Amino acid sequence: MSAAPSHAPVSGTTDLDTLKGVGPAMRERLERLGLQVVEDLLFHLPLRYQDRTRVTPIAGLRAGSEAVVEGEVTASDVIQGRKRSLLVRLRDGSGIMSLRFFHFSQAQVGQFARGTRIRLFGEARSGSTGLEMYHPEYRLLKDDTGEEVEETLTPIYPTTEGLAQPRLRALIRQAFEHLDQGSLTLEELIPDTIRARFRLPALRESLDYLHFPPPEAPLETLADGHHPTQRRLALEELLAHQLSLYRIRLRIQDDAAPALPASGGLATRFLTQLPFSLTGAQRRVLSEISADIRQTTPMLRLVQGDVGSGKTVVAAMAMLQAVAGGYQAALMAPTELLAEQHYKSLKGWFEPLGIEVAWLSGKLKGKARLEAKAMISEGRARVVAGTHALFQDDVHFQRLGLAVIDEQHRFGVHQRLALRRKGEVGTDGGSSTTTPHQLIMTATPIPRTLAMSAYADLDVSVIDELPPGRTPVKTVAVSDERRGEVTERIRNACLAGRQAYWVCTLIEESEVLTCQAAEVTRDTLTEALPEFQVGLVHGRMKAAEKAEVMNAFRDGELDLLVATTVIEVGVDVPNASLMIIENPERLGLAQLHQLRGRVGRGKVESFCVLLYHPPLSDTSRERLAVLRESNDGFRIAERDLELRGPGEVLGTRQTGLVGMKIADLTRDRDLLDPVRQLTRAMLDQAPASVEPLIRRWLGEAAGQYGQV
Ligand code: ADP
Ligand code: MG
Repeated sequence: MSAAPSHAPVSGTTDLDTLKGVGPAMRERLERLGLQVVEDLLFHLPLRYQDRTRVTPIAGLRAGSEAVVEGEVTASDVIQGRKRSLLVRLRDGSGIMSLRFFHFSQAQVGQFARGTRIRLFGEARSGSTGLEMYHPEYRLLKDDTGEEVEETLTPIYPTTEGLAQPRLRALIRQAFEHLDQGSLTLEELIPDTIRARFRLPALRESLDYLHFPPPEAPLETLADGHHPTQRRLALEELLAHQLSLYRIRLRIQDDAAPALPASGGLATRFLTQLPFSLTGAQRRVLSEISADIRQTTPMLRLVQGDVGSGKTVVAAMAMLQAVAGGYQAALMAPTELLAEQHYKSLKGWFEPLGIEVAWLSGKLKGKARLEAKAMISEGRARVVAGTHALFQDDVHFQRLGLAVIDEQHRFGVHQRLALRRKGEVGTDGGSSTTTPHQLIMTATPIPRTLAMSAYADLDVSVIDELPPGRTPVKTVAVSDERRGEVTERIRNACLAGRQAYWVCTLIEESEVLTCQAAEVTRDTLTEALPEFQVGLVHGRMKAAEKAEVMNAFRDGELDLLVATTVIEVGVDVPNASLMIIENPERLGLAQLHQLRGRVGRGKVESFCVLLYHPPLSDTSRERLAVLRESNDGFRIAERDLELRGPGEVLGTRQTGLVGMKIADLTRDRDLLDPVRQLTRAMLDQAPASVEPLIRRWLGEAAGQYGQV
């Protein structure tokens, strides 16, 4: 099935061992930097540059800037201040400055004899003696003739422990020598015609420029990443990512999917039993899905909809169409809690129609697990809900026609590929390789610019309307010095018969610490609000315990629920009208917006209190303001993108977006449109270059996808 060679050598890549001075230890360091073949060194670009191409007169130095200076030592003293230091005075024709060493040897003290000429490089700063350089790099000059300066700007590379700049620089230089000697080839993978159309500089030219920029190179433009050579590389990288996603799409769509006709009577029965009618947006998205799954090409569709927009029922309707067509449908969620909630919803909707629903999660063990797997493989269960346990190899479906993945950003692209195999072989003896249709749902409203890149392999539907009767959540930011007032607020809400959430955010990436903090909070709140029932749910509790607490809260037995961010998705308690989020500055805007979506599900006005810990940074202040001012998930996501960057917005698992070497989706947004055009042009005009291009930029990761 797989057309792509997964580990075939690509011309232009050579083993790191061919470089002088690279043994196992150096190799390991280079690999830590993501450098696996010699060609990778060419694409390891400088973070910034130093200008060592000219000697700056002392009078021309500015505090805060780096420069090469040459002068004569006029004095040298060991100063016994608060911290012992060696202070060297230096003079050139234009002025006087000092060098200061806090760590120095006796030999160094001897070096700086009066009259010694030195050349140094460092950052000038204003110190107690006027302009000073701390620990500059320096070299004694033997005679008066002066020495040559560098011919190009000096690149400063990202590096790792045990690999100093000069060493790395020398290795990169060697890679370029290999290129010049022809022992390494660098293919220009973007055809000339396309390069001409988009006015892109050539690859070799771009790399030469960025590794060895001429003295007059515009340092600020380079620092901002706006130089044409940088844009050319960023564009090539974006192109590689897009192509890899398209390739996945093409590969999946190469397979046949079952054509699932509209479900007619069953759908009508489903709809009449619902206590509400679908919104216009739900109906529109549903018809898009329905049209897709009638085809024999596998659907790859993403449904975006703000929290509470009603994605689950849309998924259920699509699943119904699969069941009516004689196939199974599965719904996967990223957490146990959420999966379980989906299971309950689906059961509630499907069982009255005589459709059996099964449940499978990693925590399901022993007999219950075997039984669930049997129900799935024998086809007794027409609908299955579960966690990623459903992706596992030992889970066989009888005839899986549709897979729904909720909260896609927690899953990677490879899961999408893993799903392909789930449609194969059933106990009905079919050895066909039909691929299930795929429906992906997300409440993370991804800005359009990003969605295009993140989901190049998906069609997108948007549920842009909330069910009627929702009142927008009022959000306020309150300093945690006013905890007392906030507690009063909870008391008032509970006295009025409502319920409240208190959300504890993650402490330093430690689940243990976070859960401990949540326990402490539960205790203090229990004490402060003795007349009310306070519950606690956190990630380290057993699934059954969690469910028990959640159920008690849903049934109104608990007034206040202290929780870690495990309640982020899924929980639906319309009577809860107040949410306190502690240390909201620790979370992303999209996540905060999702959390807040847990309230405002009923008729009464709801509030969200962002209980921050002062002082707030300017960015944090701005971010919280976005939440106060807007209830629109898309707008919030756009602002989040501007304030934090795409990695954060999408979550680290979003393959194809994180780990960009050069491109920056915020800075290079304007390249995304051309990239889309280019992607098509490449597929049409230079199909043979697609594979090497992906490999150049995605390396091993691309190989992985090639294998599936
Ligand atoms: P999300 O899009 O966040 O997954 P859900 O599917 O959980 O949202 O739906 C949120 C709540 O809204 C659920 O209680 C669901 O039953 C309800 N709901 C869904 N669609 C409608 C509708 N058209 N009218 C009224 N309530 C609806
Ligand atoms: Mg949902």
